[in-house]
Amino acid sequence: MRYVSTRGQTEPVTFSQAVAIGLAPDGGLYLPESLPDITPRLPSWQKLGYADLCAEFLGLFATDVPADLLNRTVHRSYAHFNHPDIAPLRALDAQTYVLELFHGPTLAFKDFALQLLGNLYENQCQLTQQSINVLGATSGDTGAAAIYGLLGKPRTAIFILYPDGRVSPLQERQMTCTGSSNVYALAVDGTFDDAQNALKEVFGDREFSGRYGLSAVNSINLARVLAQCVYYLYAWLRLPPSERPDVEFVVPTGNFGNVFAGWLLAHMGVPVRGFKVSTNQNDILHRLFTTGEYRVGAVQPSLAPSMDIQVASNFERFLYYSVGKEAAKVRAVMAQIKATGAYRFESFDRSTFSSSRAADGEITDIIRRVFERHGYVVDPHTACAFADLNPARVNVILSTAHPAKFPDAIRAAIGRESTHPVLEALKAKPVVKHRLPAEPDAIKRFIEQRAV
Ligand SMILES: *Cc1c(COP(=O)(O)O)cnc(C)c1O
Repeated sequence: MRYVSTRGQTEPVTFSQAVAIGLAPDGGLYLPESLPDITPRLPSWQKLGYADLCAEFLGLFATDVPADLLNRTVHRSYAHFNHPDIAPLRALDAQTYVLELFHGPTLAFKDFALQLLGNLYENQCQLTQQSINVLGATSGDTGAAAIYGLLGKPRTAIFILYPDGRVSPLQERQMTCTGSSNVYALAVDGTFDDAQNALKEVFGDREFSGRYGLSAVNSINLARVLAQCVYYLYAWLRLPPSERPDVEFVVPTGNFGNVFAGWLLAHMGVPVRGFKVSTNQNDILHRLFTTGEYRVGAVQPSLAPSMDIQVASNFERFLYYSVGKEAAKVRAVMAQIKATGAYRFESFDRSTFSSSRAADGEITDIIRRVFERHGYVVDPHTACAFADLNPARVNVILSTAHPAKFPDAIRAAIGRESTHPVLEALKAKPVVKHRLPAEPDAIKRFIEQRAV
């Protein structure tokens, strides 16, 4: 299997190359040249555990990785989840299920992709005898998941910038209490944008970033999308067969990475009724699916901060299929969005997608309502997916984070604490953070001294 760029101006590459490169040299995102039809395999996949299913599925894509190496890599990636099912499907009532994606090391769904990506990087380092220095800026969740993906791995170091005093105390603990010598949490003076801008300048220095083999933490790596297909497949296989064709996956959405993976899986032949894109008050995608227009707005901070986005970075992959896989059209549309901040679709797949939006007040109400009705506590991101459930569907709601990560929002909604032993254990560990000004030179000096 080979991988092509959505912008079509670079040669196709292997799976391992696409994973190592991340963003294609022409600025596009990698996708499989063609999608396999997995329908004939579904009966034999029915009984597989999560890691075995993942290895089988990825085997169709990672065709340049030996099967036994892939199998070991996948099993290692899901060994640190704290639930035997990895992604348990829990029934709330006859037509409402929650797919719990928060049993990984950082208690959020990004672990599914970043645990695997960290192990793929490790394999790469072993194979090439080279080292890798990962650099990223975070306003919260992604940083922790990226750190735990590389924790303690030989020949790797990870540097995560975050705005000092502007991430939640728990998020800071997740990044600073790892006890690992290859992890550097850099508490930067200023806002997230200051950190992000300084980072861009560091990457912009090609000589520097080449010398240290700097690699970005980003949401667009091909391996992330493919890893995320697997939990949709796993959930589908666990539903009673009579319910499968009526299933609508309801997905708390920011960058469109999570829900895109489900959509891609459906295009490999898995029959589902559709997908619902659930946003918070940053509703660019809800507006797209209700009006047909994609229009970039300003970010408003919300109770579901991991969905506070302005542009949905994985959207380009969906666009590629929507314009009939014509790379020239993708380039034209992306240029138009860059110039005008907007694009109107001539037509798109309205039968597959629906959408909803929840502002902060609704998020609090939903957390309370779900708790009263089902005795079940959802986090503020998952709460967005409970807005406007369609009673004519079998709803599978993707729960993207454990509620204990957001104690203030939970307390405000239901007047009690949600806790998790993993988070409690962090409170006993020393915080190790490095304070730096949000200046490219200071960041470079820090990296120079610690890079592997
Ligand atoms: C990242 C994140 C999301 C959004 O996922 P996308 O792939 O960007 O749509 C939702 N919820 C949580 C908890 C997240 O960390």
